[in-house]
Amino acid sequence: MAGHDHASDITISEAEARALALDFLIADGLGRAQAEAMAETLVKAQRDGCKSHGLQRLPGTRDTMAHPRFNRAADPQPEMVTPAMIRIDAGYGFSVLAAKRGLPLLIAQAQSLGIAVLAVQNGFHSTALWPVVEEIAEAGLAAMSMNPTHDWVAPAGGSKGILGTNPLAFAWPRADQPPYVFDFATTAAARADIALYRNEGRTLPEGWGLDRDGSPSTDPAAVLAGAMLPFGGHKGSALATMIELMAGPFIGDRTSAQSAAFDQGASAAPLHGELIIAFNPAVFGNTSGTDAAETVLNGIRDQGARLPGERRHAARAQSAQCGIALPRALHARILSLMPQTPSRLP
Ligand code: NDP
Repeated sequence: MAGHDHASDITISEAEARALALDFLIADGLGRAQAEAMAETLVKAQRDGCKSHGLQRLPGTRDTMAHPRFNRAADPQPEMVTPAMIRIDAGYGFSVLAAKRGLPLLIAQAQSLGIAVLAVQNGFHSTALWPVVEEIAEAGLAAMSMNPTHDWVAPAGGSKGILGTNPLAFAWPRADQPPYVFDFATTAAARADIALYRNEGRTLPEGWGLDRDGSPSTDPAAVLAGAMLPFGGHKGSALATMIELMAGPFIGDRTSAQSAAFDQGASAAPLHGELIIAFNPAVFGNTSGTDAAETVLNGIRDQGARLPGERRHAARAQSAQCGIALPRALHARILSLMPQTPSRLP
C-alpha cells in the first residue's frame, strides 16, 4: 500500500514500483520479458537512490521505443563463440534483457575457465551498469562492464565530440558483506547534471566542457551544444578511449559517433555494444574476501574515506524499511502518460 512522507515525495513498495514500471512499458507495447528486465533495473536504481537511472527514465523509454528500428519483440539468446567468449544480440531491443540472459552462461564459464567475456550487441541503453557487475560479484567473481554512448565528449586537448560518456563499472566479491562496486561515467560531470545547471540558470565549474568552437566554456547551454570533457584530463580521456575501442570495434559494435549517426534525430537512447568481463579470483589461488583484499578495502574505510556503494546500500536499507521514495511530480507524469490509471496506485 502506498504511503506518504513529505510534500514532494510519495513512498511506494518495491512491488508497486515494479508494477508501475511494468504497466508503463507494456502499455507502450514492449514485450513482457524486455519490460520485466527494464522494470527490474529501473526499480533497483530507484530503490538504491540512483535517481538519474531510476523511474525518471521511464518517460524517455517512449522516445527510444519510437525509434523506427527499435524492436519491442526482441528475444535475445546467448551464443558461445569460444568457451571464454559469449555473444548475445539484443536485436535492437533494450540491452538489459540481453545482459540478464547472458549472465548465467558468463558466470558459469568464468567459474570454470577463470575468465570469460560477454559481448552484448545491438542494444539500446544499458542504463546503470552496477546491477550487472553486482550480480556477478554475488556469485563470487570480480567483474567489469563498459559501453560507448553518443559522441558528446571531446578528448582532453581536443575541440569536438568524438567519445561517449562511456561508463565503467567494477565489482569485487567480499565474503560476508556486499561486494565492492563502483560505477561512473568517464566525463567530468553527467550530461543530466549539466542540463540541471542550465535549468537553474547556474554557470558550470571550469573543466566540464567546450562550446561549439572548441573553447572552454562554463555556460551549460553552450556545453550541451558543444562538447563535454572527460574527468581527469588525459587520464579520463584515455579510459574513455579504451571503452570506445573495447565495447565498440573489439566486439564488432558501434562507436559513440556511429551510435549518434544511427539516431537520426529520434532522440532515442544510444544504441551500443556492452562488454562484460567476469574473473574468478579463486583460479589464481585466491578466494574472495582474502586477507589482502580485505586489508585494502578496510584500510580505505579506516582512514574515514567511504567505499563506493556505501551510499547505495544505505539507501537500499532505507527503502526496505520505509518504502521507495518517488517524486510526486514524476509519479503523476508517469501516470499521465499511461492510457489508464491502474486502480492500485494512489
Ligand atoms: P557519480 O559521479 O555519481 O559516481 C558514482 C560512483 O562513485 C558510485 O559508485 C558511487 O558510490 C561512487 N562515489 C560517489 N561519491 C563517492 C565518494 N565520495 N567516495 C567514494 N565513492 C563515491 O556517477 P556518474 O554520474 O558518472 O554515473 C551515474 C550512473 O550513470 C552510473 O550508474 C552509470 O552507469 C550511469 N551511466 C550510464 C550510461 C549508459 O550509457 N548506460 C552513461 C553514463 C552514465 P555510491 O553509489 O555508493 O554513491
